[in-house]
Amino acid sequence: MQLDLGLAAPAARIVVLGSGSGGNVLVVECGSRRLMIDAGFSCREIESRLKQCQVDLDGFEGLVLTHEHSDHTRGAARFAKRHDLKVYATAGTLGELDLGAKGIPTQKVRSGEALEIGNFVVEPFEIPHDAREPVGYVVEDGTGHRVGLAADLGTWSQLVWGRLTNLDALVLETNHDLEMLRSGPYPWPLKQRVAGRHGHLSNAEAARGLPELLSDRLKWVVLYHLSRTNNLPALALEAVGETVNRCGAATQICVSDQGQPTPWLDLEDWTAPDTALTGEPDSAAADPLQGS
Ligand SMILES: [Zn+2]
Ligand SMILES: [Zn+2]
Repeated sequence: MQLDLGLAAPAARIVVLGSGSGGNVLVVECGSRRLMIDAGFSCREIESRLKQCQVDLDGFEGLVLTHEHSDHTRGAARFAKRHDLKVYATAGTLGELDLGAKGIPTQKVRSGEALEIGNFVVEPFEIPHDAREPVGYVVEDGTGHRVGLAADLGTWSQLVWGRLTNLDALVLETNHDLEMLRSGPYPWPLKQRVAGRHGHLSNAEAARGLPELLSDRLKWVVLYHLSRTNNLPALALEAVGETVNRCGAATQICVSDQGQPTPWLDLEDWTAPDTALTGEPDSAAADPLQGS
């Protein structure tokens, strides 16, 4: 891989520290500036994984939250307090967390209103999920790179998909395989909740909605928030990889993992391998697969 180390824009990249119902953290980095989206592990675990990724623990410009569920906020208060960060979230999410009482500075975000956090610009957008006021985000890093996060959403929506355009990386929920969910151990009401309009996005739904989000610019699709009970990385990769290949896109796919960080994913310009344009879903698309 070649990096431009001249006077060009600082390197931009992302890493998922971990993802799934046990905790979610996404880090967007541009040069020495970083933004954390969600803090769903304990503070200690987040710090440990950041060190594993060789990230300066105090190098963040802010902590942005999608919604109040504990798999997105478990370590938020403590991490923000220890590292002197402001927490950004919707009024509904902040209302559920009561961070102000813990002495943590907060700022409200509103769906449809872009907000500057340091050099980053975040654009929150409403998502259908069973939380108070959940949102997804597009993050622009100040040098033109755009990262979209759409997870914990029950269904495809015009509003959400309309926001996820012109991205360099798309972090997209592939929560469950519908067949595994149907035949799995969850009690019926929970199965209904997960599959419902305010639950979680399945592999098939993610794959079905993907074609209109693919572009020459999109370098990465990161499969996010996989259920350990109702999904397998190979099934999520197969569903999405097949779509990427069918569309002739050169986009690389990375499957995030609950237990460990993904590699750093580079958002700089790159030359797509020819093999990614054609071939079987398990050839080109499977190469960048991380984890198992
Ligand atoms: Zn949730
Ligand atoms: Zn979640």
